[in-house]
Amino acid sequence: MPIQVLPDSVVAQIAAGEVVERPSSIVKELIENSLDAGARNIRIEVVGGGRERVRISDDGTGIPPDEAQLAFYRHATSKLTSAEDLTSIETLGFRGEALASIASVSRLTMVTRHIDLPGGTSIHLEGGEMLHHHGVGAPAGTVVTVENVFYNMPARLKFLKKETTEKRHIALLVMRYAMAYPHVRFVLIQDGREVFHSSGSGHLADVLVNALGLDSFKNMVEVSGGESLAEQIHVSGYTSVPNLHRSDRNHITLFVNGRWIQDSRLAYAVTQAYHTFLMTGRYPVAVLMLRVPPTEVDVNVHPTKAEVRFRDADAIFSAIQRAVRRAIVDLAQTPTMRRGWVNSWPGDAAHEMVARYGQHELSLDIQDSGEHTYSRLSSESQLAYQDGLSNDGDLGIPARPRTLPILRVIGQVSAAYIVAEGPSGLYLIDQHAAHERILYEEFMDEQMRKPLVKQYVLDAQTINLPPAEARLLEEHLGVLNGIGFDVEPFGSNVFVLRSVPGIFADREPSDVLVKIISDLELEREPGQKTLEDKVITHVCKQAAVRAGQILSLDEMQSIVRRLERCRAPHTCPHGRPTMLHMTAERIAHEFGRMG
Ligand code: ADP
Ligand code: MG
Repeated sequence: MPIQVLPDSVVAQIAAGEVVERPSSIVKELIENSLDAGARNIRIEVVGGGRERVRISDDGTGIPPDEAQLAFYRHATSKLTSAEDLTSIETLGFRGEALASIASVSRLTMVTRHIDLPGGTSIHLEGGEMLHHHGVGAPAGTVVTVENVFYNMPARLKFLKKETTEKRHIALLVMRYAMAYPHVRFVLIQDGREVFHSSGSGHLADVLVNALGLDSFKNMVEVSGGESLAEQIHVSGYTSVPNLHRSDRNHITLFVNGRWIQDSRLAYAVTQAYHTFLMTGRYPVAVLMLRVPPTEVDVNVHPTKAEVRFRDADAIFSAIQRAVRRAIVDLAQTPTMRRGWVNSWPGDAAHEMVARYGQHELSLDIQDSGEHTYSRLSSESQLAYQDGLSNDGDLGIPARPRTLPILRVIGQVSAAYIVAEGPSGLYLIDQHAAHERILYEEFMDEQMRKPLVKQYVLDAQTINLPPAEARLLEEHLGVLNGIGFDVEPFGSNVFVLRSVPGIFADREPSDVLVKIISDLELEREPGQKTLEDKVITHVCKQAAVRAGQILSLDEMQSIVRRLERCRAPHTCPHGRPTMLHMTAERIAHEFGRMG
């Protein structure tokens, strides 16, 4: 498409704003132009953090001589003609603003030659004013040199960030484009020194080795979420194993259709996938590529295009969460990772990498999230644990090794205790405490096993809380959402509840949530429990049968059967006993039958 000036009617629909905020924005816009021009090699040279000079050379299509000057007109673009095109943008640029804006605040030279034409063009502008425009001989492609940015805007110059900050920013920026475009070879030179390059091999892994460093990369696993075609959402990339983590979310890098985006909700989806694998307050390292049909995403919401809007944000959220979860859960279930890791390399790259860097053992130090959680089991013990499975056909009862002898339910006393007989005497079981223990372990197992917790979806309900409780709910929002609640702030003390964990299917949902919050408020429990563990404990407390509830024989049998297979059947998650055991000897003794 030739370069043309957009009609005002289209311009009016484009999210307008400052394009050149700082030197790194120049680097960004010029790289995007090179990529849009189909470049396979992009060389970025920066002097003085971009203030002195930015030069970007590419081997893209170049610009024909009769269009070169037009490229510097505001709203002149070859990437868009009508407002309809805005709904399906596949290029990085589309506003036709960058070159005009950059030229207006700097001294700019462009040398370009179209691949199919013999002669090139050289253009020089200062402060937006065209000073030279003539034909030159040049290799196919485009070289844009931007010098003395903001030389004509002293006020802006004063407020620029430190040179080192800008350098770091530029390096990060270039690395992100290299990740998004592994087929393109990037070279970044700062003050005459090469600080980063990518090979253009087409493998994201190669880029990551250079961008993250080999040590970090060793601790990444591949994510490949071939999501259902109907959804047309595809997630791929790499994410860290649980022993590589960071104290903030900035190491979660996300791309949508080749565009780097900042989206705290999607970063949260990644973090959520590590539920029970990472301690609260720790975040994974991830580089994820999302492919969605262009009609599903609106990039025209912000001038820097780093924010996008999705038509179905929830579908994107769960696709990411599921894909990442699958990658790390698969990992947790594989006893030795060495083979799996190497095999996950594309083709020969695997062998090449091994030859170059040696083999790496992936250690999986899963963070302990509480004293009772399944996640503290090492992979060997998980395996041993599965070997020990026996299934005696109890319907709906987890197939796990038994930790109590088989108990026969005799009846209920005080509507609070189950009386049962075992091979070695009498058991008095606290129905509430036992049920709490059962739910807690089942809940934890479900969290481990499934990418997503079973949820019971409701018609959205709003909940109004007193300010103190509202803050408390806000504080625990992350954890609650991670374990199956879908609750969201909706005004200062109002929340919307859309689903609850499956175990609450037959309870009044808002009531459950309010009770959990007031429990959290009363929380006085000592110990080293994590926030998450605390919340889950309270969730189970709410879901468990109460003292005072008459139970049928079936209900009692179900509790006893499930308790028999708990890992820690003798105590509730708060540490109180679930049962009293009176041995046959003790009973005999009490009746004076022995001794
Ligand atoms: P936009 O990228 O939004 O179209 P720009 O002002 O960045 O607007 O660029 C204007 C036009 O100049 C582009 O549409 C493209 O046709 C041309 N152009 C800019 N940079 C390059 C390049 N490196 N190679 C080829 N063409 C380019
Ligand atoms: Mg552009």
